[in-house]
Amino acid sequence: MEEKSAPHVLIFPFPAQGHINQMLKLAELLCLSSIQVTFLNTHHNHKRLLQFTDIRSRFARFPGLFRLESISDGAPDDHPRPSGFTFDFSKLFNMNSIMSPDLRNLLLSNTNTTPVTCVICDGIMTFAIDVAKEFGIQTIAFRTTSTSYFWALFCLPKLIQSGHIPFPVDADMDESVLTVPGMEGFFFRRRDAPSFFNVKEVTNPALQFFVNETFNSSKASALILNTVEDLEKPFLSQIRPNHFQNVYTLGPLHSLLNNLRIATTNGRDQIDFASSNHNGLWEQDRSCLTWLDSQPLKSVVYVSFGSIAVLTKSQLVEFWYGLVNSGYPFLWVKRSGGEYSGEDENIPEELREGVRKRGCIVGWAPQEEVLAHRAVGGFLTHSGWNSTLESLVAGVPMICWPHQVDQQMNSRVVGELWKIGVDMKERCDRSTVEKMVRDVMGGARREEIMRSVAEIGDVAKKAVRPAGSSYMNFEALVQDLKSGCQ
Ligand code: UDP
Repeated sequence: MEEKSAPHVLIFPFPAQGHINQMLKLAELLCLSSIQVTFLNTHHNHKRLLQFTDIRSRFARFPGLFRLESISDGAPDDHPRPSGFTFDFSKLFNMNSIMSPDLRNLLLSNTNTTPVTCVICDGIMTFAIDVAKEFGIQTIAFRTTSTSYFWALFCLPKLIQSGHIPFPVDADMDESVLTVPGMEGFFFRRRDAPSFFNVKEVTNPALQFFVNETFNSSKASALILNTVEDLEKPFLSQIRPNHFQNVYTLGPLHSLLNNLRIATTNGRDQIDFASSNHNGLWEQDRSCLTWLDSQPLKSVVYVSFGSIAVLTKSQLVEFWYGLVNSGYPFLWVKRSGGEYSGEDENIPEELREGVRKRGCIVGWAPQEEVLAHRAVGGFLTHSGWNSTLESLVAGVPMICWPHQVDQQMNSRVVGELWKIGVDMKERCDRSTVEKMVRDVMGGARREEIMRSVAEIGDVAKKAVRPAGSSYMNFEALVQDLKSGCQ
């Protein structure tokens, strides 16, 4: 009888923070289940992870089970990559031709380790599926977004065919457009559609990139989603079984990992959030936790627009006025290379003074810890999927200002479907910001929103406990990886 190889998974994220974050968590979950993992980054992000996190000591608990590898993203070392990648979304480069040869070489040069038995690649890096198949290796696509967004991408060709996309000139942005299976009569309006649906030509490269990657991802034998079965049922039932027979919903992944860390140490270990949850490409500034310690209960608005969004100077000024005028203290993340720095001339002195008085500004925050801090009462967010799930689990209501890609849909889900926050959409003038902050932090709407936060948060937290859907799906994934079938 042929001997079965020990499972060895190669995990390959898209080179951006929100993707690396989730997939590194999956890597740790697999190591906790005694599965060998090779984690593959671009050279640039590999260096940043080593520089800003103590990833090696974190995985030292799993001797022989975890290995870091890196390949080129095709650009020279000194090429600017403020968010971890070499391009902007309007010019998605050809990752396939640049990275496939190195990936092939990596799979070929497996001499010092057991052979890779499964490739778990980012669902927008589907060239890795083709490469793995050349070697007869099993593949799983990992989509790091919500299911509603993923399903909307599957619907794109029909929306194009039916003339819904491109949007007509002067289209009513409040009209519902996503009239496709699973979204009939649904609450997604034009303004809630993914940002790149709003294009002039259907030949737009970003649109084409996402259409192609979505359909190619179905070539994998299974799909992983960082979501909760009971929260996204209508969309999951469209994807399963038509596009994927086997879907493992494992969300919220960060919460599943925290639970499994506790379970595998019988609760003896105090989770060291500082060293264990920092997957960042930026240096974490923990001084904000001391500042939060000095603030009253649930009084602080935490403000972060994630790892990619860039603010204009006038947006920054409007946000700052709105926050200062709301009267609440705020913690603002000013990523280096990201938001407008605000240090230039032409910011009125009265505003600077207000920010000095009420605000704490850091370059990169320990977000999960910040959201769990007793002083934080609300989260002004760009509605990235990670941030949305982290806020939900922490029980913090959101004020959503979606920036791009999936965020327009996420903010609609938060504001209208789950009702765990408010959706400002594209508005960020000072009076709207002030009103939304007041509403969520202490206004008449807070009570109602907090009821939903507790209810929806409970569904998410149950999913990652023993017998919960994500917990059980993770066990099934481990078994399937060990038996070699997905
Ligand atoms: N994050 C962090 N510190 C910060 C800002 C963000 O640790 O100061 C983390 C956050 O916890 C989340 C990720 O960066 O896990 C951002 O991912 P998200 O999907 O929310 O947005 P993206 O960066 O992909 O736009």
